[in-house]
Formats: sequence, C-alpha cells, structure tokens
Amino acid sequence: MEIFHIGAECYPAAKVGGLADVVGALPKYQSNTETQVRVVIPCYDNTFRKENNFVCVHWSTLQLGKFNFPFSVLKETSDKLGFELYVIEIPELFDRPNIYSYKDDIERFLSFQIATLDWIIGRGSVPDIIHCHDHHTGLIPFMITYSYKYEKLRNIATVITIHNALYQGQFGFDKLHYLPEFDLVHVNVLEWGNCINSLAAGIKCADAVTTVSPSYLNEINYSANGLESLFQKVRYKSKGILNGIDDDIWDPEIDPMLDVNYNIETQEKGKRENKEQLCARFNLDPTKPLFSFIGRLFDEKGADLLSQASVLALSENSEAINILVLGSGNIEIENQLTELSQDYRGFFNVFIGYDEVLAHKTYAGSDFLLMPSRVEPCGLNQMYSMRYGTIPMVRRTGGLKDTVADFEDDGNGICFDQASVENICDAIKRALKLYEDQSSINKIRIKGMNTDHSWQRVCQEYIELYNLIITKRNEN
Ligand code: ADP
Repeated sequence: MEIFHIGAECYPAAKVGGLADVVGALPKYQSNTETQVRVVIPCYDNTFRKENNFVCVHWSTLQLGKFNFPFSVLKETSDKLGFELYVIEIPELFDRPNIYSYKDDIERFLSFQIATLDWIIGRGSVPDIIHCHDHHTGLIPFMITYSYKYEKLRNIATVITIHNALYQGQFGFDKLHYLPEFDLVHVNVLEWGNCINSLAAGIKCADAVTTVSPSYLNEINYSANGLESLFQKVRYKSKGILNGIDDDIWDPEIDPMLDVNYNIETQEKGKRENKEQLCARFNLDPTKPLFSFIGRLFDEKGADLLSQASVLALSENSEAINILVLGSGNIEIENQLTELSQDYRGFFNVFIGYDEVLAHKTYAGSDFLLMPSRVEPCGLNQMYSMRYGTIPMVRRTGGLKDTVADFEDDGNGICFDQASVENICDAIKRALKLYEDQSSINKIRIKGMNTDHSWQRVCQEYIELYNLIITKRNEN
C-alpha cells in the first residue's frame, strides 16, 4: 500500500503545534515492508531546510488563476525520519520563516495543494491513499474528485484528519478561478456559510473523516465553529482515532534535550535534578511544587485564565507554589503574563516564545502540567507529561477526557469540569494535598510513565480504515 500524508507541518521539519508531531510520527510507525509512506509539506525558509540535504526530484510551474509559480519537489535524503519526506518549494510563496499568518495564506496553501497533485499525477504510479491533514489540504479531495486535470487520480481513496475544526481555511468566491477547472454544477460542494470553506469541502469529498480523539468526534456534533450539522451528516464515514506519541523522541531515559535522563526506577532523583535546573533558570524555588503550562496562548487553551488563576492560587496557598508558563500567541495574554512575572518574581515566571528544548525540560522538571483547555481535539502535552512523570491537570474535554482520569477514580491525573479560575484553583488545592504525600505522588507518576501512548497501538486502526475505504471504492 502506498500512502501519501499531506500537511502544513511535520516534525522535525516544520512545527507550530501538535499537527507536526502527528505528521512526523504516524508515518514513521506506519512504514513497514507492506506500506510505503511518503509525507509532503511546503518548503519553508527554516533551520531544517538549511541544515539537511535534499535532492530535486521534480520541477515545473503551477497555475493559480492568472498567476504562474515555478516550483520544485525536493526529497530529504537521510533515512533518519523513518519515512520519505518531500518538500514543495515555491519560493515566491513559502521562502519565509513562519508557517502561517501571512495575508496570502489562501494563495500559499492552495498553490501547495495544486503543486502536490501536479507532481503526483506526473509520477506515473498512483498512490492507494492520500491522507490529508486539516484545512490546508482540504481542497485536495475536492480537486481529485472534480477537477478535469486530475481525472487520473480519481481512484485514490482519501482521508481527512481533523486536528482542529476551529480553523477552516475560508475564502470568497472571487477566488474560485484559482481552482483547476471543474464542472460548475459541483460548485456547491465547496460552499459552507456563503464562502468557499476548505475544511468543509474536504469533509464532504473524502472517503473517510477522522478526528484525533473519540470524544472530540462527539463534541464537534454540537460545537465546531459552524460545521456542526456537516459533522452530523458525515457521521457515517467518521471515526475518532486517538493520537499516539512518538516514544522514541519523547523518552526521558534517552532524551538529549534533558539536563538529566531518568526512567521509572530513577524518576524521583531524575525529576528532582531537572527541576532544580529549570527553577534555577527561571528564578523559582525547587523545594516548592512546580505547576507548568506549555502551549499556544489562546482562549481555546484556557490561557486567558492563567494570570488570574495564578494570582488567586498564590494568595490562597500562601505562595507555597511555583508557576511557569511557556508559550506565545495572543499579545494581551502575553503582556498579562509578563507583567505578572515582574510582580511575582520568585513565584511565577513566563517564557514568551517557542522553544522545543525548553518544552522538553519543562515536561521533565515540573510536578504538574496545567491544561485548562476549552477545546482540545486530542492534546499531546498531557501524554508527554505522563511519559515524563509529570501529573497532568486537565479540564475534561476532547482528547483530555480520553487520556486522563482523576486520581480519586484510580486514574493518572487530576481532572476538573469547567475552564474557570475557580476550577483551576480547586484543582491546584487538590494537587497540593496530593503533593504532601510523596508515596501517592510517586504511584501516580509511575502509573503515567507506564501508560501506553505509543503509535503502534493506533497505526493498525488507520490501516484498517484505509483497507475499508479501498474495498468500498472497489465495490462501487
Ligand atoms: P496544539 O493545539 O497547539 O496543536 P497539542 O497539545 O496537540 O496542541 O500540541 C502541542 C505541541 O506543541 C506539543 O508538542 C508541545 O510541546 C508543543 N508546544 C506548544 N507550545 C510550545 C512552545 N511555546 N514551545 C515549545 N513547544 C511548544
């Protein structure tokens, strides 16, 4: 079986969040003697591009309405990733340092999708599966199904995985001419909410729709930024498949990014030493419990609650705690947190920015990881924290609900129901009580470290889904 994964991010080549972790891990665990797995992402002007070797396997010019963009397909030449990585180089659109947030993002990602299909159709052999990830690749199933130009690709079975339904890649019908020609009787397939909606088009046209956790699949039936009724309609071809984590990379025993490596037997000492280093760097007190938050600073993550909850928790608990935040996003939240770090020196600190190494050190050196998310399609942080012996404190939503159970129910973490300051502070109080009893803490840590979050467990579910949709197509 030949599988193409197509997305905007792939770790370690380009990462903003969990999408990269999944596109960088699932293909690796899917690759074996029976499956050939290739990953395609845009070529960004970043360190990975500069520090790794690529060979050009194809070059051409793509057409986007009246614009023509030369592009090349470059193959990464090492075999260290565990799958074949191809990057689509469209210098005019992607030779920039960031992945998103340019005003021509629609043109950028549409061109990426067109270039990818132009290349695939020119290769001669047609893959069995095209697996699209999020709205940046949502128009691929539509183009394969309806564009005259891609008629030869029509038999490929397609899957779209929803990593986050809040973002949908909408644009006006004034840009309809960007899409390769198709019979206009099908134009309504592109439409959702009076505009072209890339994610909706992908959901309508793909043979299967997956979400990154079973609970998220249930939730998007009543909360999906306007797509609720569409998700209800396509329920028959949808499946929630819980993400795994790459336990080769996320392994405290061998992780080169940690100050001190440790395993289940040595976790107490190992975590203490990592915590000491982390606290020294951030002017925190290693003798007090350390609560951390890692992630994008947006309301969907509950990041807007962090400063108020920190102030309340510090005063309620007589400053017997440390809090560390690592993230970036909403500028107001960033400013609030920065101010707080000045007012509460020694108790609260923040690192505004993206730092992969610091994230690893924080998972290892913290006692508790806070995730008060309003929306969490899967969430990987809680799984990383468990793997590193850090107890997750999560709001019961989406994938958090599927992976964390409260310690009072014999689970592996601390759970609460509302994304609110009060609920966070109550959870912190419960955590502190737990912290007084090191043997209970150790038991929960070890339970978390022993939990199987590996991709091996999940890969088979995807392969079964691919087989199912291929069989269905052959029957029709
Ligand atoms: P998202 O919704 O952002 O994709 P996930 O929980 O699925 O959330 O994945 C988040 C990933 O991004 C994790 O690997 C986490 O460690 C990483 N991450 C988030 N913010 C930062 C940051 N500021 N610095 C380093 N890593 C980060």
